[in-house]
Amino acid sequence: MKPICKKCLIEGISISEFESTLKEYLETLPQEQKVDPDTYRDRLSLCDKCTSLSNGICRICGCFVMIRAAKRLSCCPAVEPKW
Ligand code: SF4
Repeated sequence: MKPICKKCLIEGISISEFESTLKEYLETLPQEQKVDPDTYRDRLSLCDKCTSLSNGICRICGCFVMIRAAKRLSCCPAVEPKW
């Protein structure tokens, strides 16, 4: 059986396709794994002011912060965590 290409590399993926994939991932994340909306907003606000943020990606861990911040069990990977 031929494996289905999941596009592990972002090359060839349009920005809008990429955005909708991230949003779809967030929407399908089980509710019990997500933080509440206020916590999510607070976390993203701290990421937004952080010098390690680059184009939506945390340069310390390589995660998309909008995904990392949404997960209840995630934490900021900085030596001195910001959230
Ligand atoms: S997860 Fe932490 S280190 Fe990474 S961008 Fe957000 S605040 Fe900065």
